[in-house]
Amino acid sequence: MAVPQRRISKTRKRMRRTHFKLQAAGLVTCPKCGAMIKSHHVCPKCGYYDGKVVVLNGKVVKEAPKAEAKKPAKKASKKAAK
Ligand SMILES: [Zn+2]
Repeated sequence: MAVPQRRISKTRKRMRRTHFKLQAAGLVTCPKCGAMIKSHHVCPKCGYYDGKVVVLNGKVVKEAPKAEAKKPAKKASKKAAK
């Protein structure tokens, strides 16, 4: 079994670990409402994905009625009332 020939000094260890860091999540702006959202995710603010309503009032919808689709603000007011 391979064994390190000598101990790694504190400095060398710490220099190596300067590259160990968290990366920021890939955030993009929602084309519908402009909020910062994760790319390839449904917007949690307005429920849109790929230009269509996917989540309306906390429920998954497949085919959104046109009248409801134009009122993402309704969802926001309901959320504030809770
Ligand atoms: Zn949005």
